[in-house]
Amino acid sequence: MAELSEDQQLIADTARAFAHDRLRPNAARWEEEGLDRGVLKELAELGFAGIYVGEEHGGSGLARLDAALIFEELSRGDISTAAFLSIHNMCAWMIDAFGDNEQRAAWLPKLTRMEKIASYCLTEPGSGSDAGAMRTTAKPDGNAHYLINGSKAFISGAGFSDLYVLMCRTGEDGPKGVSTVLVESGAHGLSFGKAEDKMGWRAQPTAIVNFENCRVPVANRIGPEGEGFKYAMRGLDGGRLNIAACALGGAQDALDRALGYVKERKQFGKRIADFQNTQFTLADMETELSASRALLHLAARKLDAKAPDATKYCAMAKRFVTDAAFKVADQALQLHGGYGYLADYEVERIVRDLRVHRILEGTNEIMRVIISRELLKS
Ligand SMILES: Cc1cc2nc3c(=O)[nH]c(=O)nc-3n(C[C@H](O)[C@H](O)[C@H](O)COP(=O)(O)OP(=O)(O)OC[C@H]3O[C@@H](n4cnc5c(N)ncnc54)[C@H](O)[C@@H]3O)c2cc1C
Repeated sequence: MAELSEDQQLIADTARAFAHDRLRPNAARWEEEGLDRGVLKELAELGFAGIYVGEEHGGSGLARLDAALIFEELSRGDISTAAFLSIHNMCAWMIDAFGDNEQRAAWLPKLTRMEKIASYCLTEPGSGSDAGAMRTTAKPDGNAHYLINGSKAFISGAGFSDLYVLMCRTGEDGPKGVSTVLVESGAHGLSFGKAEDKMGWRAQPTAIVNFENCRVPVANRIGPEGEGFKYAMRGLDGGRLNIAACALGGAQDALDRALGYVKERKQFGKRIADFQNTQFTLADMETELSASRALLHLAARKLDAKAPDATKYCAMAKRFVTDAAFKVADQALQLHGGYGYLADYEVERIVRDLRVHRILEGTNEIMRVIISRELLKS
């Protein structure tokens, strides 16, 4: 990462040290016990709970490229915790970017200190990729309240978080009828399904979020009615970079572990590292990760610069990096032979964790839809 400024290097080093000391030693245990609120608070003390939230509200006021560095390094310690933090950051940014002064003042200092944790609620049981077809409604209840009815599926942090950034229908069918509303935990009519039993990201709770005549002040709406889908998609541009960065960090960790292993393990009287197949595999893994990092940083710079093609680059980075990272993690497992399949060596957890990066925040097929739509427009 020779092209980094001194500040960026310092940010990356800070995240790397935290990942090494606080995340990596606990990642396996958290798969059993769940997220550690204390560690999330420690991450907030480093400024990582509001990475690109304005400094006036307790955020760090950093750039998307800085966030990519942070999430890559944190994921070298624990993908699940890092990815959870990325969703919290996306929610905090949406409030900062699209909320009013009162909403910023009410929520951002708490979110950036991790006194409150936020979840992002877009997907529904009947609408995943086609999120604009959502059916959860917020209907007026007098002048000052909405009554919310419906369900959100696969919500990371459901039942654990304190604030739910909800996309729901306040108007016509389709994306233009969607608004963003903040729902606090404890709201009457808010409930959660059972914790989903998942392949990876096991440290995080994922569940259905139900709204049954859930009464929420109209003042909790972010921006005007009908703007919510746009906000959700703007949030996802940066979210996708973070999901890619987490995949990159996890894959880098897998490659580092494989490098150590093949130098130790011997078969046929030779180190595994001495077989040409191993050397070529390692060469390909390193090349894929370097190319991934370059595209990710380019996309982050585009988003920082508000470039007109930033959305396309975010989609390209998410698609390319998450596919490459999963393949690299799987190759690292293969180089470990049967030991790679055992939990003790921790590579199998990386493979399990990275699988979902190709599915969420828009599947990699939907990334191709976005990229090709932009291409064919011109
Ligand atoms: C662990 C986990 C955590 C998650 N966390 C959150 C969260 O915090 N908040 C949230 O809102 N959501 C969350 N999600 C939901 C996630 O974003 C969705 O699962 C994802 O967007 C895909 O939606 P779906 O599962 O309904 O799949 P579907 O949309 O039903 O897709 C099924 C298949 O069809 C393909 N497909 C669909 N449409 C097209 C098309 N037009 N062209 C080509 N192929 C297509 C898809 O790529 C996929 O392969 C999470 C999911 C998981 C698994």
